[in-house]
Amino acid sequence: MTDTLTPTERSERMARVRSRDTKPEIRVRTYLHAAGLRYRLHQRIEGVRPDMVFASRRVALFVHGCIWHRHPDPTCPFTRTPKSRVDFWEAKFAENTARDARQKATLEAAGWHVAIIWECETQDAAKLRALSATIRAVPMRASSPSHAPPPLAQPAIAYTPPVDPVRSVPHAVR
Ligand SMILES: [Zn+2]
Repeated sequence: MTDTLTPTERSERMARVRSRDTKPEIRVRTYLHAAGLRYRLHQRIEGVRPDMVFASRRVALFVHGCIWHRHPDPTCPFTRTPKSRVDFWEAKFAENTARDARQKATLEAAGWHVAIIWECETQDAAKLRALSATIRAVPMRASSPSHAPPPLAQPAIAYTPPVDPVRSVPHAVR
């Protein structure tokens, strides 16, 4: 056995790879937030929980760990297969990629755009810029299309008179 980690150490390491709020995710959130995009985290859609959801554009973003989700890029510096328990890991990885494909299909069938950024790409400013452009390229949708008036039919700022705190108190009985 050439692997330097015990199976327990290996499992712990892999579990950490799966955990939420990982550094790659935080890098992506920070970048996109600074780029003016707003999102929700880990929102459930159709039984799928993408890492970030851009509801107004119906974009679901996954920040995929390269090892766990098998980044197909041959130049990826992270994707490798553990050298021990090869069958175990290969089965596990096959399960993961099959689940990823299923989730993507589910979201797309429900009218969502699915975007993926790989862990190794989150350290590359050009990739983050491209991701931001990809999300922005998806047009915003009105939240309730059937009821939304045309944008110009409404005044830019709706005036609401301030509530007079004295008048809003019921008058004392004379
Ligand atoms: Zn990668």
